[in-house]
Amino acid sequence: MSEILKGKTAVVTGGARGIGAAICKHLASMGADIAICARKADERTEALEKEITEAYGVTAKTYACDVADAEQCKAAVKQILADLGNITVLVNNAGITRDALILSMKEEDFDAVIDTNLKGCYHMIQACYRPFMKQKYGKIINLSSVSGLLGTAGQANYAASKAGVIALTKVTARELASRNVTCNAIAPGFISTDMTKGLEEQYISQIPMKRAGTPEDVAKVAGFLASPDSDYLTGEVIRIDGGLAIG
Ligand code: NAP
Repeated sequence: MSEILKGKTAVVTGGARGIGAAICKHLASMGADIAICARKADERTEALEKEITEAYGVTAKTYACDVADAEQCKAAVKQILADLGNITVLVNNAGITRDALILSMKEEDFDAVIDTNLKGCYHMIQACYRPFMKQKYGKIINLSSVSGLLGTAGQANYAASKAGVIALTKVTARELASRNVTCNAIAPGFISTDMTKGLEEQYISQIPMKRAGTPEDVAKVAGFLASPDSDYLTGEVIRIDGGLAIG
């Protein structure tokens, strides 16, 4: 445990499970109060709030927010600021896959992935833009993917969304740099979560380190990007993939 983020609030979209939940716990272990943004508040988010509060003594509160909906993002950010007083760290983690070859990919599946993974980031960044400018400090962390760097077959929608996230990260970094707000992307490789369930056999042999990553592996990178240790780092993409996408 540390107190490096004491008094700061971290907002984590898709925070209820997988990588998002690990990031919530890790940032809480650094002293941050946590706003868990989830599509709905339910027994999972209640259990996570309890776990975080008991383990780290910080505030953890759930905000229902579908990131594909701009109005819900604005409302959630407004409520978080009213309840917790500030937003210092925004982690755009919510994401989905709808894999298929382009030949058979349905347009609705292409749109759904772009709306959540790419537009979701844009909605949340836009909702936090003014508060970050006024505060003259902030950390935006966007979850991209090695799929957005490599272009994985069968993931046209997902790879395009995650490549878009990298461009959005660089634009945001340039626009907010003079306000002391940084924006960086994390590009995980193969991480064991619900998203990758059943796919281990297909991928592990391609990973130089011969193992899947854990949500905690990714959360530690997010912790660095959320902390003052990375104050001069912006517009960067950090791969965490056991070597999968070494250039
Ligand atoms: P996951 O276990 O499937 O969890 C995804 C989370 O996103 C869930 O909490 C889900 O909420 C939430 N979510 C989905 N759509 C949402 C929406 N419209 N609004 C709000 N929340 C929404 O996935 P994960 O593996 O932890 O992935 C987290 C992030 O890392 C994603 O952006 C993913 O693309 C990226 N990533 C993952 C891997 C990997 O190998 N796992 C690799 C590279 C990048 P519900 O519980 O309500 O469904």
